[in-house]
Order: sequence, then structure tokens, then C-alpha cells
Amino acid sequence: MTYISLQTEHPEQYRYQLKVAHLFGDLMNTYGDNGNILMLKYIAEKLNAAMTIEIVSLGDSFDDQYFDLTFWGGGQDYEQEIISDQLEAITPPLSRFIEDGKPMLAICGGYQFLGQYYILASGKKIPTTGILGHYTVSGGEDRIIGDVEIHNEEFNESYYGFENHGGRTYLADNEKPLGKVVYGGGNNGSSGEEGLHYKNTFGSYFHGPLLSRNARIAYRLVTTALKQKYGEELELASYEDLFSNLDDKEVMKDFKRKVEE
Ligand code: GLN
Repeated sequence: MTYISLQTEHPEQYRYQLKVAHLFGDLMNTYGDNGNILMLKYIAEKLNAAMTIEIVSLGDSFDDQYFDLTFWGGGQDYEQEIISDQLEAITPPLSRFIEDGKPMLAICGGYQFLGQYYILASGKKIPTTGILGHYTVSGGEDRIIGDVEIHNEEFNESYYGFENHGGRTYLADNEKPLGKVVYGGGNNGSSGEEGLHYKNTFGSYFHGPLLSRNARIAYRLVTTALKQKYGEELELASYEDLFSNLDDKEVMKDFKRKVEE
């Protein structure tokens, strides 16, 4: 049975309501990936939307009509192996959710699970949902670890994070990367690409967590969910309105200092 892990207090005081599915949130949460959930809730509340987050895990079904936004965090190979043969129940509705263009974010192990297969560090090949075209092979004990910066040309935005993964992911022809690597390893250490962008689904190896260091992605996910639910013409505060006190240059300085040290 799914259960609520977090919800906005006094939801009746908000104009809008959003429901978030947190896939396998009880088993997959490496390097503070749950911070992405906190960031989604923070932005939603700033936009006058109360948010309810429900854990969808082993044995649960996933209702693609009920949920407005989906998050899937990273995991260790150990948990991924346990989950891998229990993905069939959620796969058809999750595929509809993605193909319908509903907003989703998948990090690291979750991102790997959206693809065709994943080969663990041990060399064992485990099944994944097969919803999207990318696949992930093993880098063995040779993990890609460190600070990473990418640039997304479509949105003209730079993103910053920390990566720690053994898997090497290769995108399919109909998948765009989340960005081109400026610094770090990215999807596989050689393609110069990081993450995935397909319709309104975003995948990434960024921990940190991704959304608290890159609030524009959180804003995009939440506003997409709100417009799909309440109408495209919905007038929402702009990103600049919400974060007029945030100096992007300060974030950059922090990052540069870290990589130069
Ligand atoms: N276990 C996977 C890997 O090592 C995913 C890691 C993660 O989610 N951080 O590639």
C-alpha cells in the first residue's frame, strides 16, 4: 500500500493541490536525494500549491491519473537488484505517465531503471522498466565520482552537482542529454553528455541534491505539473519573482572554489 511520507501543513489554505509519487522512496535515497522532494514542496508552496508526497514501493501499483509529478531517487546496487524483478507492476502506467508528457525526475539508480537494462558492478545484468531507450553498463569498481557542471543549450542554463556512480549510461537517438559536460564525468565519462531529457522527463546522475542546487529545474517540474492540472493559461509567479534574493554568481563562486581546491 502506498503511504504519505510528507505533506504540506494546512493544505486547505492553498489554492492548488499537487500529488507526487516517490518511487521506491523507502529503498532508494542515496546521498540525500530526498532533498529533491523537499525542494519540490518548497517551490510548490511558494506557488500557492499544497503538495502531498506518497511512497510507491514493492508490491504497490502506480496510478498515472492520480499523480501529477513523479520522483525516483538513486540507489545502491544491492537495493536495485531487489527492486529490479518487481518493476512489472508499475511499468505500463509509468510508461503512460512519461509518454503523456507528465513531469518526472529520475536520479542515478532511478534514471538507470527507466532504461533498457543495467549491468551491476558485479557484472550481473538486471532488468529495468525498458520504458526509455538508454541502457547502462558496468564500470566495475571504477566509479565516476566528483563535482560536475553541465550546460543545457535549449534552456541556456548551467547545472551543478556531485556524481557518484559505477554505471555508464548511453542514450538512445530519441533522448536528449540534460546537458553537455563542462566539468566532470557525466553519463559515461566519454560522450561529453550528462543526464536525459525526454518530453517532460528528466534524468541525471547529479546528487547534491540536484534540485536544491539547480532550482530552475524544480521550478520547471512544478509549474509543468500545475499547468497540466489547472490549465496552460494559469498565471504563476516567475522564477525571478520567487528567487529575487538568490545571487547565481554566489553559487558559481562556491563551485569554483571547490573545484580549484
Ligand atoms: N548503483 C548505481 C551505480 O553505481 C546507482 C548509484 C546511485 O544511484 N548513486 O551506478
